[in-house]
Amino acid sequence: MKLLGNSSRGIIPLQKCLLYRCCILPIALYSFQLWFYHHALLLYPLKALGKIQRRVAIWILGAFKTSPHEGIKAIAGLIPIKLYLQKLRGRAQLWALALPPNYIIRSLIDSSFRSPNNHHPSSLANVTDHQRKKIKGHLVDTNNRSHSLFPAFLPTHSELAPGSRIIDTFSDRFSFNFCMKGKSDKTRVHQLDSMVIESSSSQSTAIVASDASIKNDIAISISHTHISNQPLIKTLHHAVFVTSTEAEMFAIRCSINQATARTNVSKIVVITNSIHAAKKIFDPSSHPFQIQSVAILEDLCLFFSKDPNNSIKFWECPSCLDWHLHKAVNLEMKAFYPTLSYPSKTSWDYSMKSECNDISNIWKMTFQASDGKGKQFLNLLDDNSNDIKLSYIKGGPWLQACAIRAITNYAPIGEYKLRFFSREEFKCPCGVYPIESRRHILHNCSRFNGYWNPRRDSLSHFVMFLKTNPNMFAFLNNINSTSVSRSYS
Ligand SMILES: [Zn+2]
Repeated sequence: MKLLGNSSRGIIPLQKCLLYRCCILPIALYSFQLWFYHHALLLYPLKALGKIQRRVAIWILGAFKTSPHEGIKAIAGLIPIKLYLQKLRGRAQLWALALPPNYIIRSLIDSSFRSPNNHHPSSLANVTDHQRKKIKGHLVDTNNRSHSLFPAFLPTHSELAPGSRIIDTFSDRFSFNFCMKGKSDKTRVHQLDSMVIESSSSQSTAIVASDASIKNDIAISISHTHISNQPLIKTLHHAVFVTSTEAEMFAIRCSINQATARTNVSKIVVITNSIHAAKKIFDPSSHPFQIQSVAILEDLCLFFSKDPNNSIKFWECPSCLDWHLHKAVNLEMKAFYPTLSYPSKTSWDYSMKSECNDISNIWKMTFQASDGKGKQFLNLLDDNSNDIKLSYIKGGPWLQACAIRAITNYAPIGEYKLRFFSREEFKCPCGVYPIESRRHILHNCSRFNGYWNPRRDSLSHFVMFLKTNPNMFAFLNNINSTSVSRSYS
């Protein structure tokens, strides 16, 4: 590993970060659920893992060993280990609730996720309140978590059993009309208009426009049904803590339910801007929208069985087209302001999504307030003049432009020597300034080209500035332009 960490001949920081996440973390955190649970004593394991992470951050960045730990971890794109474990624990709990009902874990749970025909004698449902207070562990956490979610997976439902699925029995009755990439908006509008003119002449064709949106965690699903160019039914529903795909699927579910309930309808045309949600209806694999797709499939199966000519077609209509039927749905949705105040259960998909966002937000907040990043940490901006947001995805924003020594101010310069080796010379070689500080080097040292412009304090400008002055924060005894430029790249 040390060989690979060589700053001139080793692998680049992004590859080191990948190596750590793919090869070291899975081994270090193997079966962490056994010791990482609510009310567990975590001091020793977290201390040991924190040490590993600090050594890895120094290895990735080639930073000084004395560098402030939170600062270098943020630059290396490594989220604090406790937050990372919290994310993994949350995801492990959610995946346990996505298991099939005949799975042993489901028979041990006492909530609505409990297996209906599979009761285990050691189930948490058989435990007294006194015992419940004393039991700790991953399974108890999973059980408590299951109370705040509503079930989403139905992998063993008869509609999804191979052989009796709609894709096996009525595969020729449903179709999709996609918006072709590269074709102009006008062409698509023309296609939609022609389809409506053709369908409007028939009394047995129902045209349904559906849409959904999310405002302040409240999802609105809306659908308009038209027959013979006349608006017939409007449905509008709202729910809290669901994802946009779920809201879109619910809008399609309402519209199909309304259209199939009418006796004279033999063809249904669904116009939606999220065709991926419509495709999920017929997806036989296990996914968190199965509760919606099964309800739709039940309606469609009944509809197709009634008459061999009954069919359904899904048309993609992107919102940017402003096509009249879809625009009417969109405008009505925007004009609706729901207010919900009572507590509600969340969907599985929403919990999965919010798991990452919540942890990332905690990291950002604690990093801003913490002293662990170092008092000299240089706060730079991104290309849009916003503060650089911390991220652990693809190594984070800093690792792409790793200029670790300059940002943490742990560099071989006079200011650092004055703090840690006060007997050594700390004057600037230019002879003008008594201390060779980072501020002096960046702003007014005559040894370097093009002084740093503080009004353009973005990370990309900063890196460009360091590239034009490769010797700036390098070791003077061993100047190697390749190693310096690699550490900035
Ligand atoms: Zn100077």
